[in-house]
Amino acid sequence: MAPEKLLLIPGPSPVVPRILDALAKPTVSHVGPDMAHDLKEACESLKQIVFCENGEPFIIAGAGTLSMEMALLNTVGPADRVLVLSQGYFGDRMAQICKAFGFDHDVLACDWGRAVTPRELDARLKAKSYNVVACTHVDTSTGACAPVEEYGQVLERTGSLFIVDGVCATGGIAERMDAWGIDVVLTAAQKCLGAPPGLALLVLSELAMEKRRSLPTVPAYYSDLLLWLPIMHDPSRYFSTPCVNEVRAFAEATRIILGEGLDERFERHALYAEAIRAGLAALGFTFFTDPDFMASTLSVVRYPEGVDDKAFRARLSENGVVVAGGLAATAGKVFRMGHMGNLTSADVRTAIDAVERTLAGLGREVGPGSGRKAVDGILKA
Ligand code: PMP
Repeated sequence: MAPEKLLLIPGPSPVVPRILDALAKPTVSHVGPDMAHDLKEACESLKQIVFCENGEPFIIAGAGTLSMEMALLNTVGPADRVLVLSQGYFGDRMAQICKAFGFDHDVLACDWGRAVTPRELDARLKAKSYNVVACTHVDTSTGACAPVEEYGQVLERTGSLFIVDGVCATGGIAERMDAWGIDVVLTAAQKCLGAPPGLALLVLSELAMEKRRSLPTVPAYYSDLLLWLPIMHDPSRYFSTPCVNEVRAFAEATRIILGEGLDERFERHALYAEAIRAGLAALGFTFFTDPDFMASTLSVVRYPEGVDDKAFRARLSENGVVVAGGLAATAGKVFRMGHMGNLTSADVRTAIDAVERTLAGLGREVGPGSGRKAVDGILKA
């Protein structure tokens, strides 16, 4: 077999052996005690990861897009108006889901590379009221991180439900549901949480659950969270067969996260982002994202003049590191490097060394070891 490449696309992130071992355990009954134990534990851990005391967690086979859909379907009624804050590709997707279900919605968008500001949100809410406001915490297309805490402060006086797409943030950047007034965090397993793809994850506040209960019906069956609620409370009951192995792997992923400590994990993400950016800058790269909005979970990187996107990424992959290209208008102009999940400082160094070898292989002049030196200056250990 060819040696493993270091997967630094902005999700899925590399899955560490402990989690892969959990995934490879024999499949057990979906209503049996082993599964019940792991699902209950994973539900409790998920609540801790988003700092939610009394909400309801859901772990359901699917991925981030399903969790986006479930968040909207279970909180938006026929008479409701939704405001989608869009800072990129995945904010636009939230609006597309609203459109697909015929929800009355407006989009407050900003240029790619930054996020809608709390002031812009405040101005919009003074002009028009909304029952639900949805934002993307980190838009993976642009690398911009939204000021979710400040949005929460603006929304406090409006009574709107607040949905946060945490797919590219949860477990890597703080999301304090209770303290920040978030009603739904929707996310997925494969990014900062470090598990393989395959799970739609949500935590709903008590208010969001009340909202669901107030809706006589929702235009969904598999996505109706009231049908899943009894299973999350008592996994020996059946609604639809959960992906047993994936749930067990996710439970292991949460043990790693809580074992590391949430604040320590957020700090590690910030440190690695700083180190990777210092290394890339030393090698002549610049960044797409507005410096005031850069997320610590990925970097969207502009090429130095004359470096071809396809040639760079192909050679970087030959050198053992896989990154992603740009989306939509940024295609061909940037690459996107994820640095989230259970990455190590050795991975950070490997990545920057591989980028340096790639540039040299493409005939660029680079000071040997200059990227690594910048990384070491920040990582120390
Ligand atoms: N939201 C964000 C911020 C994302 O980055 C992604 C996936 N890259 C999604 C939603 C959709 O998730 P999935 O691909 O798992 O459906």
